[in-house]
Amino acid sequence: MEELVSQAVQTPLERADCPLPEELRAYAEEQLDAAQALQIAEHLVLCQRCRRQVAAYGTSESG
Ligand SMILES: [Zn+2]
Repeated sequence: MEELVSQAVQTPLERADCPLPEELRAYAEEQLDAAQALQIAEHLVLCQRCRRQVAAYGTSESG
């Protein structure tokens, strides 16, 4: 009776130090400084959840 466990481990790359949603949005809109953008870019490499979040913010043009 441990079926729920399999669903809990779908995202092993999830990290606790995710940027704020506001920061991710600013990154998607290219409103951050180069240093800040770099930090988030490095985080996105490790965190697919945030990548998808940024993608959701930045899908107004350029498909
Ligand atoms: Zn993240």
